[in-house]
Amino acid sequence: MKRLCLLGATGSIGRNSLDIVKRFPDAFHIQYLSAHRNVKRLFELAQQFRPRAVAYSGRNVADEWHETFRRIGVELLVGREALETIAAQPDYDMLVNAVVGAAGLRPTLAAIRHGKPVALANKETLVCAGELVTRLASEHGSQIVPIDSEHSALWQCLVGEHRETIERLILTASGGPFRELAAADFRHVTVEQALRHPNWSMGRKITIDSATLMNKGLEVIEAYWLFGVDVDRISVLIHPQSIIHSMVEFIDGSIKAQLGLPDMRVPIQYALSYPDRLANDLPRMDFKKYSQLTFFEPDLQKFRALKLAFDALRAAGTAPAVLNAANEEAVHAFLTHRIRFDQIPTLVEEALQQHERSHVADLETVLAADQWARTFVRQRVESGKSGREK
Ligand code: NAD
Ligand code: MG
Repeated sequence: MKRLCLLGATGSIGRNSLDIVKRFPDAFHIQYLSAHRNVKRLFELAQQFRPRAVAYSGRNVADEWHETFRRIGVELLVGREALETIAAQPDYDMLVNAVVGAAGLRPTLAAIRHGKPVALANKETLVCAGELVTRLASEHGSQIVPIDSEHSALWQCLVGEHRETIERLILTASGGPFRELAAADFRHVTVEQALRHPNWSMGRKITIDSATLMNKGLEVIEAYWLFGVDVDRISVLIHPQSIIHSMVEFIDGSIKAQLGLPDMRVPIQYALSYPDRLANDLPRMDFKKYSQLTFFEPDLQKFRALKLAFDALRAAGTAPAVLNAANEEAVHAFLTHRIRFDQIPTLVEEALQQHERSHVADLETVLAADQWARTFVRQRVESGKSGREK
């Protein structure tokens, strides 16, 4: 029985993780849970899964809630630090980080410091502090298992292989809803259009990231830290059907791919059961329904966010943390109708240009760069100078 600490239980990955837990009651138990905004939903989950304690990281709650949770034998912890508190408990076996954004970093570090394996959906953790996270993980013997479908695919392709034999990692991308939209029309994209992803149903932030292709950029950085492969050996391939989840090309020219229907429960289950596989009855792929799998080169001029992510990874130091934080703020500004869609990469680019890059010495360096980028973007948005006019 694996006891899990699930952060971000109310989100898209969180709900899919709970679906897997329900399918395997003898294999997994929810020991700790967190949610950010919806305390009622958190209570319902606590009733259903009976964890030891839950963390509510968002707004404050009325005092009565503590008593309400206590009545069902569950301790309620409130505040941002509550995530770290549950992640640092000794009596669980794996952290499942399904929080969105850089807020996932501190609890990941807390789990790593206690030597816990981490099933990581929260890619922002590795984008903003990949160096720190991977160094600490190896020091504390804590394994990071990816949940992101592309990285799970690469992980699965690499079982039994030696890292030195990797020629190239090929990350596939659906291309999002605007793959065929003319660059000139990007300025007219509405929030509603950007939230309509062709293949995946996900949280709002990652759905916007998928429309700008920043998501793929973040995934390139995530792959760099997870697999220790040089940036020049990581490539992106547009594959609109989202059936091949990623591929590894080896030094002998052989290529391994991992395929399946786009269903996040498959990579989530694999991360939870790794290195084992468990039999399930999730929908199976019928190849006859996919008689054509197609591939294209990504258009880096149209999707500037992807190029910016490659640039930030090459620049190294605090640049990826700035890329990530500026993007989080810009996406939030777009979702709240304060900037246009095409201004998202412009703001990120300006933040990267204005930032004085430094070496990542410690967590404080990362947090300072993150904070600097957020303030920079917020000021640009508030002053109406959110990106050059084109
Ligand atoms: P979501 O918005 O649906 O859920 C996010 C969860 O995090 C919610 O439970 C929310 O309450 C919590 N949360 C939000 N802000 C928080 C904060 N500041 N502090 C603590 N908790 C907070 O997002 P999602 O789609 O489930 O994505 C979660 C993570 O997984 C992201 O990093 C995303 O990039 C990654 N991911 C998601 C998918 C997917 O299919 N949804 C696929 C691959 C990777
Ligand atoms: Mg992905």
